[in-house]
Amino acid sequence: MRILVDIDTCTACRLCYDTLPQVFADRGDGIPIVWLRVKMDDSLKPSLLEVVESCPSNSIQLEEVG
Ligand code: SF4
Repeated sequence: MRILVDIDTCTACRLCYDTLPQVFADRGDGIPIVWLRVKMDDSLKPSLLEVVESCPSNSIQLEEVG
């Protein structure tokens, strides 16, 4: 699964990295980065889906990769 963050629409609200620091981090200016080596085990998926749905600017997209 690929996680994409649209930094043009992100409002730097902190929700994603405060909620799921295993996946997201503050790159230093409030905009999130995604850890490149996230091991997406099933236990993280419910929290990730909740963060995606809760993002106030709908800036996080998930893509299945073959
Ligand atoms: S939850 Fe959305 S708006 Fe908030 S910091 Fe993360 S990507 Fe940006």
